[in-house]
Amino acid sequence: MGKNVRILAQLQEIDLKIDSSRGETQALQSEIHSLEAQTEEKQLEIAQQKSELSAVEEEKKILEENLASESDSIARSEERLREIKTQKEYQAVSKEIAAAKKVKADLEDQILQKITRSDELNALVTEKEGYLREFEVNSSVRKGELRARIDQLEADISAVSVARDETAKAVAPAMMKRYETLREKRQGVAIAEAKGGSCLGCNMNLPPQLFNSLFKEDTYVTCPHCQRLLFMRDAGGDVAE
Ligand SMILES: [Zn+2]
Repeated sequence: MGKNVRILAQLQEIDLKIDSSRGETQALQSEIHSLEAQTEEKQLEIAQQKSELSAVEEEKKILEENLASESDSIARSEERLREIKTQKEYQAVSKEIAAAKKVKADLEDQILQKITRSDELNALVTEKEGYLREFEVNSSVRKGELRARIDQLEADISAVSVARDETAKAVAPAMMKRYETLREKRQGVAIAEAKGGSCLGCNMNLPPQLFNSLFKEDTYVTCPHCQRLLFMRDAGGDVAE
């Protein structure tokens, strides 16, 4: 097994740790984004209900103005009624008053509906604002924890990256390129352990003569099934030196 492959196996252990830390960082960041999106969604719902509330209040105000003018008109007609001399005129004005009273009753119904809707919306807005405040407090605590963990992971990644670059210096550039290309094609695992007659990268059996080559210095052995570079561990489980 070539010296480069042994170093690459060590490098891969570091790279897999970095991959895993980056994966965790991304998951934590998407949790932060999700918390922020939920806050925005709740704020938007409240804003929509507040805007519906002010529309209802505006409609109610107009209805109340109409009601007031209808009441004035009824009062004036009733005033007129007292001064009327003819039966015909009396009937006409009485009919007018009855019609106006019906309009007034309709307006009162509509105002009542607006009051009911306005009360509902007010209660809903108050409730949702309460939930939002609670959500924001909890979400801020959670975001603090997530950011602390991200900072820690990023510090770990930088520390490990220094060791990675040191290790990478010992690998020939052409070999390094091969390693990087294989990692891209094989879900981050370019170097696989050969153990018990199999490649642990793809779990396929390896030809027995291939194992003999693994003991030779300056020979690269590739898995015939997944094309990963193969290495063997010593009895202690470490990468063979
Ligand atoms: Zn394989």
